[in-house]
Amino acid sequence: CEGKRESDGTLAALWRLQRWYILLFSSFCPNRKFTRLPHLAGTQQNLRLAEQIRDEWLAFGLDSAELVWYDVLLSYPNRTHPNYISIVDQHGDEMFNSSLSEPVPEGYEHVTDIVPPYSAFSAQGRPQGDLVYVNYGRTEDFFKLEREMGINCTGKIVIARYGKIFRGNKVKNAVLAGAKGIILYSDPADYCAQGVEPYPAGWNLPGGGAQRGNVLNLNGAGDPLTPGYPAKEYTYRSKLKEGAGLPKIPVHPIGYHDAVHLLKNMGGASPPPDWRGALNVSYRIGPGFTDDFILNKVRMNIHTYNQVTRIYNVIGRIRGAREPDRCVILGGHRDAWVFGAIDPVSGAAVVHETVRAAGALRQRGWRPRRSLIFASWDAEEFGLQGSTEWAEENAIMLQERAVAYINADSAIEGMYTLRVDCTPSLHTLVYDITKLVRSKVTIQKRTVCISMCETKAEWVGLNCCSKLGSGSDFEAYFIRLGITSGRARYTKNRKTERYSSYPVYHSVYETFELVERFYDPSFQRLEAVGRVRAGLVFRLADALIIPLDCKEYARSLTQYANTIQQLALEHPEAIQRYGVTFEGLFSAVDNFTQAAADFHQRLDKLDTKDVLAVRMLNDQLMYLERAFIDPLGLPGRPFYRHVVFAPSSHNKYAGESFPGIYDALFDIENAADPDRAWDEVKRQISIATVTVNSAANTLHPVA
Ligand code: GLU
Ligand code: CA
Ligand code: ZN
Ligand code: ZN
Repeated sequence: CEGKRESDGTLAALWRLQRWYILLFSSFCPNRKFTRLPHLAGTQQNLRLAEQIRDEWLAFGLDSAELVWYDVLLSYPNRTHPNYISIVDQHGDEMFNSSLSEPVPEGYEHVTDIVPPYSAFSAQGRPQGDLVYVNYGRTEDFFKLEREMGINCTGKIVIARYGKIFRGNKVKNAVLAGAKGIILYSDPADYCAQGVEPYPAGWNLPGGGAQRGNVLNLNGAGDPLTPGYPAKEYTYRSKLKEGAGLPKIPVHPIGYHDAVHLLKNMGGASPPPDWRGALNVSYRIGPGFTDDFILNKVRMNIHTYNQVTRIYNVIGRIRGAREPDRCVILGGHRDAWVFGAIDPVSGAAVVHETVRAAGALRQRGWRPRRSLIFASWDAEEFGLQGSTEWAEENAIMLQERAVAYINADSAIEGMYTLRVDCTPSLHTLVYDITKLVRSKVTIQKRTVCISMCETKAEWVGLNCCSKLGSGSDFEAYFIRLGITSGRARYTKNRKTERYSSYPVYHSVYETFELVERFYDPSFQRLEAVGRVRAGLVFRLADALIIPLDCKEYARSLTQYANTIQQLALEHPEAIQRYGVTFEGLFSAVDNFTQAAADFHQRLDKLDTKDVLAVRMLNDQLMYLERAFIDPLGLPGRPFYRHVVFAPSSHNKYAGESFPGIYDALFDIENAADPDRAWDEVKRQISIATVTVNSAANTLHPVA
């Protein structure tokens, strides 16, 4: 593909970008050496790895690299009192117990400190009762149970299959439904691909494997005990029982071998057809077991405890040559549930190689125009804690100086093609970079080498990117602080499910061999993702004019306004009765569209030798994302402050546009007080209108 002319009008930057690429990925040894041992947050081993990464970043040639610690709330299983689930008879005797650990893969038998599958931050307890099968545990699943099937989950233990949504949302829904415990299990329907063997013969989840993961509902709070402020020695900590996002009931994950025992004798109504998984059981809803087993109950035995623990981010820097007070951040987490070969090491290896390349250029005298910050975050798995605490400690600096944040979690979640989620102003840059990055891909069983922008049928022009959701470390930067953000990784074919991740996700089977044998044998996918991520960082840091496209923001706002209006129009009478109108919002979007077009015209005519004029327009570009922040935050979610994007209230992994309006409209036909509910819709439309108009104003000529 033809490389587009650089915005600073020279090919020198493109040449430097190519040199940067050539230096990248001399090998993927970091992937192997970072995955030999577990690196759970809060452990010695993860501190060691942090020190090693800091030392290597310094040796690569960064100006500085340091550890930055916080004392945050983490959660671990009790070593002497394991967690498990049992079926008990009428005397309370245990007839079946779930396994205490996963079978360890060959070659790792000697490894100590493999944390058994658990749900981090689960409440403690031994609830006993009848089981109710709740499908994926989504909002719509509980609606169906309660409203159509007449099932009451109060006092029951619910069992939900993993998949579709963030597990913390499942737990929240179970609590709201009155459940006294929730069991999460991986169904082969969601965690085994057709025609693929379980690991180690293939990349499917074995029956003894289970998915670890936190079950918090933090809504962007970071450390549960210090919301809003960095968790340092001088920081006030809330009482444990007031901690942000902690679930009130026991939660535990199991694999499908164990799940069969719980599901096989369930009684009650037959499930709707799409509630059936792929196990050889009836998937009856319950509550409880069939007549023959009616006296048996399920008991959870959960002893997981919360503990304030020290975590360590590694922060590396290269000072910018011309605008050192402007920075671009490349960050990804280092902590893993066990070996973490995909999550996070496939991403952490990319950061490491990018630092190696940047350091090598720096040692030859190069400096980017703006400063670079590299971050190896800790405790992402425990609720994005390392990245959020650092954002809290540096909030003022970041809101004044951050140009962009690029996230670097898992570089692969599939083998098919590139997936990019980013803010709309990055669309054009992403597209331009994917035209430059070539990679081997398999199309209809033939391996071809093409540019990343050609690898995807839907990858037409600028429609290449999706909205950002959450569930990784960009959250505080994008949704709380309003910093231009994006993420990129290799993904599976979209026709398969979007949010069920990959089969062995968060299990002990995420080994180096899994990546080397199945996901990316020659590390070409990792390299392609690395080039996309590093290319974004490089261009954002080094281009004379920050390569953001306000017109793409305008185009997206138009789409989102149309979508949300369509949703409201599903209630034509109410809209009439309450006088709900989107006219103001559309006129604000028009203002924004005009302002963006004019702004880019001025940009095209800019005298690039006029350093103050360049800086002025660059500031307008940098602060555009900030303009969408409402300091008051969304209703009940003070740390979700972006008016255009927030994690869905029903699935943290998914992004919702105009979330304030969306949530106000949600299930409004069942509102207890329709007058109030529609009044809130109007208030949210007005907040969106004010915000879009204010953002448009920031793009106007400054005088
Ligand atoms: N990425 C981790 C997970 O999916 C943490 C996500 C979060 O806490 O937001 O479990
Ligand atoms: Ca905090
Ligand atoms: Zn991760
Ligand atoms: Zn993870």
